[in-house]
Amino acid sequence: MTLKTKIVCTIGPASWDPEVMRQMIENGMNVARVNGAFADTDELDMVRALVRNVSDSASLMVDVKGPEIRLNKFDEPIPLKVGETFVIGNTSRDKIYPANYKDVYTYVKPGQRIVIGDGDVEFVVEKIIDDQMYCTVQYGEVLKPGKAMNLPNCDYTTDILTEKDKENLQHAIKTGWEFVSASFVQDADSARKIKEFIGDAPMKLIAKIENQAGIDNIDEILEVVDGVMIARGGLGVELGLEKVPYIQKLLIDKCNRLGKIVITATQMLESMTTLPRPTRAEVNDVATAVFQGTDAVMLSAESSAGKFPIGAVAMLHSISTQSEDHVVPQIIQSDIPYAETADALTKAIAAMCMSNDKISKVVIVSKTGTTPRLLARHRIKQDIFAYVSNSFYRNTLMLTKGITQAFVFDGVTRDSDFSRDAAVSLLLEQGKRDNVLQSGETVLIVGKTPMSGEEYFPNIFEIVTVS
Ligand code: PGA
Ligand code: MN
Repeated sequence: MTLKTKIVCTIGPASWDPEVMRQMIENGMNVARVNGAFADTDELDMVRALVRNVSDSASLMVDVKGPEIRLNKFDEPIPLKVGETFVIGNTSRDKIYPANYKDVYTYVKPGQRIVIGDGDVEFVVEKIIDDQMYCTVQYGEVLKPGKAMNLPNCDYTTDILTEKDKENLQHAIKTGWEFVSASFVQDADSARKIKEFIGDAPMKLIAKIENQAGIDNIDEILEVVDGVMIARGGLGVELGLEKVPYIQKLLIDKCNRLGKIVITATQMLESMTTLPRPTRAEVNDVATAVFQGTDAVMLSAESSAGKFPIGAVAMLHSISTQSEDHVVPQIIQSDIPYAETADALTKAIAAMCMSNDKISKVVIVSKTGTTPRLLARHRIKQDIFAYVSNSFYRNTLMLTKGITQAFVFDGVTRDSDFSRDAAVSLLLEQGKRDNVLQSGETVLIVGKTPMSGEEYFPNIFEIVTVS
């Protein structure tokens, strides 16, 4: 069940089931994402247990909402008519109110657009009386509970982490979650605040780019974070849908050039929320993201609230596999400022693989996974098996396109200064044990000796035929 492109699934009621989770993982899910809008630490624990019950090597991603406003979870969807007046209140005494931000109405002026969810409903604020916003329905037929409430261009707060976010994030760090995805990251400062909160923990930060400010400041944001999510929901609402395709292409390209993780998200197979098959346009959308070089594709409602969470994962898997066959290897010439040696080495390794099609696989040792990640960005045809120093780093590679599988290298615990030959045979032995190497095939071993020490740059490059 290996695939170059990785699959992130948002977990919710539709996937809160051991059997469903098992089948999602067996069908290709690599990362489970919990949307922090309503989840508490108990839900984080519950999802972690569900995932870990099936797999040690799937990754966990906690999503923090920061400046994102959500509607409360009222009981039933509310039918709407264009032109009618609709009141949004401010406290739990009201039927409808922003659940996580109080007093938003104090920042809002008449004429403010309020866009719900991914644009399914749109209001315009006509007047504010006390703490009630009187709106006119501009668009939409039904208002669903718990949806995001976007206020384009309204400067209501810049808190990148709310109290609830901090609680969830702290808990996720303590319990070994690999990734945090942060909503509405708009500049390097807010990204840095989250990094500071993470501190010395190895957790990786994914910035969700959701609005114009995030795009304007993308270069400085990329200097701070480990990767980005193209949050096409937020982007479509804030910028208009027509701008999203180009932004997607731009962000994927920037991330590939810098060796940073990039996830393409939202409505990839939206119609599979209710139907067993996607539309042709959706299939094309997934394939396009793969051709453009996305590391991962993501499911939202499809896997968290839809009728076909397993089918949606299987569909992502099969579209990606079919499309990857046609991805052309290419040495990406841009330099990697944060890992110059690994960058140069991996360009050479990729060139070696591209000019020698006898090489069927690459087995590569690395401490944290940076070198395999930089190798993978050149889209070589060969499978890449990464051997890293612990299970946390192994799992963080589950968001990198082109890493076929990752393992913890047994030799890491050996402090001894063994010979090149010993290093190569250690890797070959473990590769056979892990069922990634078959006798007779020609593979490239990228290793390191001694295994101890701070620096982990490979110093062994050997093309060998597995005995
Ligand atoms: P979400 O953000 O967390 O609301 O799903 C993703 C997006 O905006 O596309
Ligand atoms: Mn969003």
